[in-house]
Amino acid sequence: MKLAKKIALVTGAAQGIGKGIAETFAAEGADVIVNDIRCSESTDKLADSIRRQGRRSIVIQADASNREQVESMFERAWSEMGPIDILVNNAGVETIVPFLELTDEQWFAVTNTNLRSGWLCSQVFCRRVVGARRQAAIVNIGSIQAARVLPGRTHYAPSKLAVEALTRNVSAEMTPLGIRVNCIHPGLIETPMTDWVMKSPELLPQVLAQISAGRAGQPLEIGAVAAFLASDEARYVTGQSLYVDGGWVGK
Ligand code: NAD
Repeated sequence: MKLAKKIALVTGAAQGIGKGIAETFAAEGADVIVNDIRCSESTDKLADSIRRQGRRSIVIQADASNREQVESMFERAWSEMGPIDILVNNAGVETIVPFLELTDEQWFAVTNTNLRSGWLCSQVFCRRVVGARRQAAIVNIGSIQAARVLPGRTHYAPSKLAVEALTRNVSAEMTPLGIRVNCIHPGLIETPMTDWVMKSPELLPQVLAQISAGRAGQPLEIGAVAAFLASDEARYVTGQSLYVDGGWVGK
């Protein structure tokens, strides 16, 4: 198992890609802290299923873009679970608004979650890891939209391309201190966020025609790559952004 004896915290893990990453990490031997801004029966069920596999798991409800909540999330995670080895900055939101109609509030809501939360969680996490003289890994979740234009995403796409720059810059400062930082840019992955695309008889074939694999990806397929990047097998990989998109950018 790639992540035996590791402790991981995944933001935005109530559903979709974050849930897939949490499940993969548990299958690879990690204890998992499940974070989401909205916690419910489904987050409890996820933690239960992880515990049934013999791993430890707790749920912490927190807004990953709120400093106070992030500080207390890491405080609680550290004291209940022990020093954390892996952070996955997965929490994200997407809205679709034509450029000329986009408001300050809409710009802020998307960039604050998609970009600032990754910066904030990484800073709070790295301060603890460096203070404890430990080693760790961060995996950021960007998007195919760092490289492809879809209509109405003049706030979302820049926030995701910036995750790549964040990855490189945090890696440059933190790798010498023992923390590797990498990024995954998912393509079309079947989650609640993309449900409307998957159900659209007009849009879905147009999108699939651009993907060499000819299908949408599954959250566990992002989980597998995140597990590799977070594991010691990737000990010489840092500052990288990898498209996991079934060959969309590569086509
Ligand atoms: P999703 O909407 O299904 O799940 C996102 C989760 O993040 C939700 O449970 C939500 O409550 C949580 N969240 C939102 N804001 C939060 C906050 N401030 N703090 C904590 N949790 C928060 O989306 P998904 O498809 O699973 O996407 C996960 C990540 O992958 C996002 O960053 C998204 O931008 C990115 N992504 C998704 C796709 C795709 O095709 N699904 C493609 C590229 C990138």
